[in-house]
Amino acid sequence: MVFYCFLVDQTRRVLQSKPAAGTCSRCGGGARVADIRTATRFCYVPFYWKSWRAVVCTSCGAVLRSYR
Ligand SMILES: [Zn+2]
Repeated sequence: MVFYCFLVDQTRRVLQSKPAAGTCSRCGGGARVADIRTATRFCYVPFYWKSWRAVVCTSCGAVLRSYR
């Protein structure tokens, strides 16, 4: 019996954040500018990292705007 692993997931970590102007369009919560690092994992082994900056909601976690 051969076991194949096709599990791919992403972990998102906020490195630092600071208050930003604006509110969330979904829940009306406060917005923050956050530096986020996303790690993509395949079978629990990270193989791709991406650091990016985005405006996120502090209440529901929605990404309101992302910068490149
Ligand atoms: Zn929200």
